Amino acid sequence: MTFPAPLSLKDALFLDFDGTLAPIQEDASKVVLPEGGGDLILELSKKLDGAVALISGRGLQDLSMRVPNAIWRYGNHGLFSAGPGETAQAPATFLADDFRRSLAALTVPLKGVELEEKGPVVAIHYRKAPDAETVLREHLPSLTAKFPNYNLQEGKCIFEIKPKDANKGECVRRVMDETPFKGRRPVMIGDDTTDEDAFRVVNNLGGLSIKVGEEKSIAQYRLPDVAAVHKYLKEFHDKHN
Ligand SMILES: [Mg+2]
Repeated sequence: MTFPAPLSLKDALFLDFDGTLAPIQEDASKVVLPEGGGDLILELSKKLDGAVALISGRGLQDLSMRVPNAIWRYGNHGLFSAGPGETAQAPATFLADDFRRSLAALTVPLKGVELEEKGPVVAIHYRKAPDAETVLREHLPSLTAKFPNYNLQEGKCIFEIKPKDANKGECVRRVMDETPFKGRRPVMIGDDTTDEDAFRVVNNLGGLSIKVGEEKSIAQYRLPDVAAVHKYLKEFHDKHN
């Protein structure tokens, strides 16, 4: 495991939420920041002149309930955003009715599988039904292929069907052209497969990519778990206090 190089005051910090800043739980609605985590993120945002962004697969409103709203938030893999102090608006639902029906036909008979609509993104959770994975893996690719504007992506005990422009990499690329991020070195910390898109962009921009956990990744560096992420961020905070 290659421990990451230290952060600098000239960085733009992109942080995933679940599995990176907050420990994953069986019930995704119960996930919260560890004690002191919110304050730490706010302090970091001050030190980096506001160039801290939370970037999550959660819906923007859902994410905003769990993190300080004085920082940048990007929900639905970057499809929707709220700036510091802005209230997250509920996105209109984009999912076509026939798509929704096909998904329900597949997933409703699978006990324990949960279908979650997050605006235009659909998450299929099977953490509580591991046996359903084979059926989902067999049928979701062909089902998704019928809807050309959508991509199927896999995460930890989750499949996600997303509009093609809901992509953390595209989000980072876009945000890095905007104040207060522009001109800084991008740093992305994330734990899941959807973070790989952001790692690729950050690597191309000469930034730091940091994978949380042991799975295969194109990130340059690794941290073992959520606690190590907080420790890494705290060390940077304390060094510049
Ligand atoms: Mg994550």
